[in-house]
Amino acid sequence: MTAHIEATSPHVMNTYGRVPIALERGQGCRVWDVNGKEYLDGLGGIAVNTLGHNHPKLVPALQEQIAKLIHTSNYYHVPGQEQLAQMLTERAQMTNVFFCNTGLEANEAAIKIARKYGVDKGIEKPVIVVYDHAFHGRSIATMTATGNPKVRNGFGPLLDGFIRVAPNDIEALKAATAGNPNIVAVMMEPIQGEGGLHPMRADYLKEVRALCDANEWLLMLDEVQAGMGRTGKWFAHQWSGIVPDVMTLAKGLGSGVPVGAVVTHGKAATVLQPGNHGSTFGGNPLAMRAGVETIRIMEEDKLLDHVAAVGEHLKAKLQSELGSIPGFVEVRGQGLMIGVELSKSCGQLIGQAAEAGLLISVTADTVIRLVPPLILTTAEADELVTRLKPLVQAVLAA
Ligand SMILES: *Cc1c(COP(=O)(O)O)cnc(C)c1O
Repeated sequence: MTAHIEATSPHVMNTYGRVPIALERGQGCRVWDVNGKEYLDGLGGIAVNTLGHNHPKLVPALQEQIAKLIHTSNYYHVPGQEQLAQMLTERAQMTNVFFCNTGLEANEAAIKIARKYGVDKGIEKPVIVVYDHAFHGRSIATMTATGNPKVRNGFGPLLDGFIRVAPNDIEALKAATAGNPNIVAVMMEPIQGEGGLHPMRADYLKEVRALCDANEWLLMLDEVQAGMGRTGKWFAHQWSGIVPDVMTLAKGLGSGVPVGAVVTHGKAATVLQPGNHGSTFGGNPLAMRAGVETIRIMEEDKLLDHVAAVGEHLKAKLQSELGSIPGFVEVRGQGLMIGVELSKSCGQLIGQAAEAGLLISVTADTVIRLVPPLILTTAEADELVTRLKPLVQAVLAA
């Protein structure tokens, strides 16, 4: 008999309210903790593990890459950068990419592009429009752009140069920007993730695109969570038919290897010039290989169609199994980016689900977030609902 291993981290800074389990290995959509207990992964490392765990095509490719080169320097060309940039721009109908390592870095670069785009036009104090409930990261600038006061409180002074509007309300956007010559960009998540799984409507995205065109503002979409096939298209905004000027990516792009990207075209593509921006780790050979293989495998295994189908199945199943429980509000989202809103606070579900062998998260206090690996099977989707249902019943009955 193996002794039970306690999951504690007394020397790690206490920045997360952690569930007391420690994970050791994974296979597909399952992970096992240090005591051998199995979990179904409905979280995918928060929309990161695109190809699940220990993927039979990804792992050998990364092993081969590690033996060749992990890191060089942006003093020199990195062939993988051009390869991944080409793959991304082709799928996004855009032209140029900057590589970094995380979501907040990608958004930080987007904010710098917007500001310099304005300054180059003679706007000394550029202003970027952001949204209620937005989440763009935890650096000073991206935290300022974030809507949730809990993320910002205690870290002031915040930055100037942002105004905030309500989502999905074109009149509110017009009113907030009317007569302001300093506006340079509108920045939003096509589906707000941390803010509670709130999609921007397709018609709203089209209206914002037109307003940005009319005023020469950049439309900057934060697809850090919703991009990379998560919704069943390469990028979530593609459901609306628009093309942004700037799009940020990270989370799922490297299937677990840290990689972020800022994808641009048009005027936004040439704003940053040598000396304006950089990253030591950004675009390193290992990260680029992870991105290239993620896209290659997604295509080879036809994962976009799979995500659209299994996502519809999961949503329908959640609706049919949970829909009649008193206190259930709604299920929403697209593909494998799904939110289940309850009528009460349910943060305790994260720990309760882990106990029941299921990894999930809760955002905005009342919304269960499901962002599993994109390889989730229909049978695993059913199992997820089976494990989740009694927990939701118990929370809502309490
Ligand atoms: C997670 C997230 C970020 C921040 O990404 P990090 O890699 O944690 O810096 C930014 N924007 C959105 C929409 C996200 O979901």
